[in-house]
Amino acid sequence: MTELINDNKACLFCNLEREKILKSELSFALYDAFPVNEGHTLIIPKRHTANYFDLTNEEQADCFALLNRVKGIVQEKYNPAGFNVGININEAAGQTVPHVHIHLIPRYDGDVEVPRGGVRGVIPEKRNY
Ligand SMILES: [Zn+2]
Repeated sequence: MTELINDNKACLFCNLEREKILKSELSFALYDAFPVNEGHTLIIPKRHTANYFDLTNEEQADCFALLNRVKGIVQEKYNPAGFNVGININEAAGQTVPHVHIHLIPRYDGDVEVPRGGVRGVIPEKRNY
């Protein structure tokens, strides 16, 4: 399971040519092509699987270990005031690329008027409570 299983020719993340920030045994990280904030990063398991909950425990742990390492790089380079970490699972939750990816979104003071509630904002009217 150490090699990228590149059998899905239609998958964006199985066929990436872009530069990686970091790689680990089972995952890699790169900057989001359409960042919502400066330093927006994706952590992606090498094996093609759409649903985060279908990853093995080892793959999940590898992704989150890489997330922690990438956070250090993004903190150093962009010096954000905070982060949101999130995974969209299935179309109902907003997933557009059907290959697992963890968003690391740096947050900066004043990037939105009222940041309170953070990821609760996936349901905008429930964000502020
Ligand atoms: Zn894929």
